[in-house]
Amino acid sequence: MGQEGSPVSEVHFNDCRVPAANLIGGEEGQGFRTAMKVLNKQRIHLAALCTGPAIRMLDEAIRFVTERKQFGQPLAEFQLVQAMIADCQTEIFAARALIMETARQRDRGEDVTMQASMCKYFASEMCGRVADRCVQMFGGYGYIADFGIERFYRDVRLFRLYEGTSQIHQLNIAKRTLALAAAS
Ligand SMILES: Cc1cc2nc3c(=O)[nH]c(=O)nc-3n(C[C@H](O)[C@H](O)[C@H](O)COP(=O)(O)OP(=O)(O)OC[C@H]3O[C@@H](n4cnc5c(N)ncnc54)[C@H](O)[C@@H]3O)c2cc1C
Repeated sequence: MGQEGSPVSEVHFNDCRVPAANLIGGEEGQGFRTAMKVLNKQRIHLAALCTGPAIRMLDEAIRFVTERKQFGQPLAEFQLVQAMIADCQTEIFAARALIMETARQRDRGEDVTMQASMCKYFASEMCGRVADRCVQMFGGYGYIADFGIERFYRDVRLFRLYEGTSQIHQLNIAKRTLALAAAS
């Protein structure tokens, strides 16, 4: 569907022997815990990766609605178009704030398993909503290839799927929230 600059294929390991020295986590039984720690970092990173294209798409949409005129005035002067700009800008800011705060917590050595999930879940869904609004602001030109925004729309759809689907993150956030409530 998108991200054509990043070729994808499955990798199969058959009868693959891994030396004990290469055990993830260094000792038996620690592999999953160690892998999860890596996931936290990757999820914060992926959330930041979602925020970049959202900023770019909004920049492109703002340029377009400022230049294109309908009914004798730039699209940017219509309040319903301004509402889409405001929603995009607000959600981008919220994602950045969430990511920065989680990164600070991780740098302090805190357990950010739930926060990393919240970052990835919110930022990837936010990016999808921003992509949708930006296509809308481009009108019919948003749907055809010449203006480029449709490529972003396709590219960012993957963010909600890999590095844990939105549903898996919802489960993770709820599980940890309920555990915190039970412990308090
Ligand atoms: C272009 C691309 C690149 C990728 N790159 C990588 C990569 O580099 N490394 C890597 O490891 N993987 C990669 N993946 C795989 C990706 O991580 C998985 O596709 C993703 O995790 C979803 O798994 P799945 O496709 O098996 O979907 P499924 O697990 O079959 O899920 C299908 C649907 O069911 C929902 N679902 C599944 N389980 C539950 C549950 N317990 N409760 C509620 N809902 C559930 C999911 O949220 C989803 O909506 C890539 C995939 C694509 C398409």
